[in-house]
Amino acid sequence: SIPLGFFGGIGAASRNGILVKGSNFLEALNDLQTIVFDKTGTLTKGEFNVVSIHPSSSYSEEELLKTAAYAEKLSNHPIAQSIVKQFDDNIDDNILHEYEEIVGHGISVKLNTEHVLAGNEKLMNKFKIPFIQTTEVGTVVHIAKENDYLGYLVIADELKVDSQKAIKSLKQLGIQKTVMLTGDANKVATSIANKLQLDETYAELLPHQKVEKFEEIEKMNSNHAKIAFVGDGMNDAPVLARADVGIAMGGLGSDAAIEAADIVIMTDEPSKIADAIKIAKSTRRIVW
Ligand code: ADP
Ligand code: MG
Repeated sequence: SIPLGFFGGIGAASRNGILVKGSNFLEALNDLQTIVFDKTGTLTKGEFNVVSIHPSSSYSEEELLKTAAYAEKLSNHPIAQSIVKQFDDNIDDNILHEYEEIVGHGISVKLNTEHVLAGNEKLMNKFKIPFIQTTEVGTVVHIAKENDYLGYLVIADELKVDSQKAIKSLKQLGIQKTVMLTGDANKVATSIANKLQLDETYAELLPHQKVEKFEEIEKMNSNHAKIAFVGDGMNDAPVLARADVGIAMGGLGSDAAIEAADIVIMTDEPSKIADAIKIAKSTRRIVW
């Protein structure tokens, strides 16, 4: 027989801004044991702001910001966009050459003939640039020019207003484990995990390491229990596609994410995941 209840469930979900691509995915929400989240754009707003600028002794704040803005001009990464926005002046693209975005690291580019790097500790290590270790909480973007360390900028992203409520509701609905995966620094990840009371967090992961970590977590699930991944598609479409239930943030999310996902949250609110589970539970009651 046709499970009419599931069609009703998909309709109820869509009226709540939750696009479900098939009744089997709604059904699977009833058996979720673990939910794995991406950080940026998923639990946080993905709107970064420059909070402080720390030039090394021979540089001014203005010069450091300018070099950073030129290096980041061609990148679509939210970190890059926050730096360009802060600079708030014209940038002459014609002087940018050999631009390269190194996934999970940052940018390598030539400004005229000078080689500039903008990115995290991994990037500095890759090019053997000694950098300042900072204790500030935030995403740190180190800048180097021609092998000289110029200083760093601290960028901050905010939690979405309903992230805390979202995690709490999921716990109340019986989700056993909530996990966050991120390419961002350990300090940033730990601070968020504490605020949200997440069970586990793994930081400083490259995109392929996110897939590997997800597979490890999947193996720890008990038999028949399902695992969901929630992401925005910036570097995480492979994990979205691999999860029993891939959930994408649809508002800010990329087309790749929406395509790879089984469920799309049109409003970008993580608390909608709990709503989807509630709809799945009541739908099951109608069907059986
Ligand atoms: P997330 O897992 O938080 O979505 P990403 O994989 O997009 O993170 O990026 C991981 C890290 O790589 C960032 O936190 C940042 O340190 C560095 N990074 C990536 N792109 C850039 C960029 N354009 N400029 C500076 N740093 C970058
Ligand atoms: Mg991301």
